[in-house]
Amino acid sequence: MGLRLYNTLTQRTEEFRPLHDNIVRMYTCGPTVYHYVHIGNFRTFAFQDVLRRWLRARGFTLDHVMNLTDVEDKIIRNAVAQGKSLRDYTAEYEQAFLDDSAQLRLERAERVVRATEHIPEMAEAVRSLEQKGFTYETEGSVYYRIGKFPEYGKLSHSDFSGIRAGARVDKDEYEKADARDFVLWKARKEGEPYWDSVVGPGRPGWHIECSVMSMKYLGETLDIHTGGVDLTFPHHENEIAQSEALTGKQFVRYWLHAEHLIVEGQKMSKSLGNFYTLRDVITMGYQPEAVRYLLISVPYRKKLNFTFDGLKAAATSIQRLRDFELRLKTSRFADGRDAKVDERSAHALRQFEDSLDDDLNTAEALAAVFEYIRDINTAMDAGDFRLGNVDGALGLLERFDEIFDVLKPTTDASSISEADVETLIADRAAAKRARNFSRADEIRKELLDRGVVLEDTKDGVRWKRK
Ligand SMILES: [Zn+2]
Repeated sequence: MGLRLYNTLTQRTEEFRPLHDNIVRMYTCGPTVYHYVHIGNFRTFAFQDVLRRWLRARGFTLDHVMNLTDVEDKIIRNAVAQGKSLRDYTAEYEQAFLDDSAQLRLERAERVVRATEHIPEMAEAVRSLEQKGFTYETEGSVYYRIGKFPEYGKLSHSDFSGIRAGARVDKDEYEKADARDFVLWKARKEGEPYWDSVVGPGRPGWHIECSVMSMKYLGETLDIHTGGVDLTFPHHENEIAQSEALTGKQFVRYWLHAEHLIVEGQKMSKSLGNFYTLRDVITMGYQPEAVRYLLISVPYRKKLNFTFDGLKAAATSIQRLRDFELRLKTSRFADGRDAKVDERSAHALRQFEDSLDDDLNTAEALAAVFEYIRDINTAMDAGDFRLGNVDGALGLLERFDEIFDVLKPTTDASSISEADVETLIADRAAAKRARNFSRADEIRKELLDRGVVLEDTKDGVRWKRK
């Protein structure tokens, strides 16, 4: 059985196959760049990273587009309040998002595109919808008439048949179950940025941005569209209404949504004081890879309870993985190969891969790896693990880290390089041979001060970062 993914549209877990060849055309609703992105948003982006990595591990080629929403109600409000241009205002947050993503080791989509660089195409799409009779105009703004699209509600599985005809909303975001005609093009307002266009002066609504940018780069039918579960309605519902009205074709084949993140059991909110950006958490002394681990350790369709105990546990789990890798790489094992150990490695790899094929069940994949580590440590202690078994064990760890990517420690520019550590370890060995034990102790202490712990074993010195 191949990769299976849960499709919000059909409400079923389906075998995944791209429409054309081996190429996965995928679109992700990126952040609205008006402040630092919080850890709840990063949960969704981390899920997308696992999806990307697993698709590639399964032999697919990716063509993935992520947009940056850099024109929108809140951005305009803040930029105007600060007397800045949109570009000046959003540039800082855009860079912060890319930097934070890199800290979390999130792969960059093949194309990252800005809404403000596609305004003429958006206006063209609005005009096209006008010509097809899906819109009406009021005071210079253009609205989508959802009554004209009978399938409206098919993604969020809501029955909107009782909606009031003509009730409309200007805001980009609105309440659940409150279906309204939504704005495609907002008329120019005094004191706000605007563009001259084929549908008059103004600016695009948020929803049309995604329809236009996704289809421009990926074609009329996408394989996968992802986002946070809160985008299902109205945003994604509106994307479908716009795109399918424009093309008459299915817009997206697989809709994937990541569940919410809560903090210490509560909804994250500024008023509760439990609202965290990645920067907040790192400033508190946590490693980015621990955050990454915690964010992806819970399967994406389950609510994730982000706790500081959980972060500490994530750091411990990462340390266990690194200790195992170190033991594999630095121990002297007896020659030969044990058939049972090899079989155990192959079994763990199968379990790991089957779990990810099962709608990216990261929790089961991790459980398979940790059970394996426990068994192999026992085999090593008993002397059953042989030199010939190392490759199989390292193979599993490599496969694991292609997806989870937590084995390599984050080092900042100020921390000591691997080469310098090795040099000091050699100096210490030389000092010991010369029976200069105070010098040897000094080096150990110097390394400790710089965050490196030495461990003398029968197979020589091992070191790791604290
Ligand atoms: Zn979107």
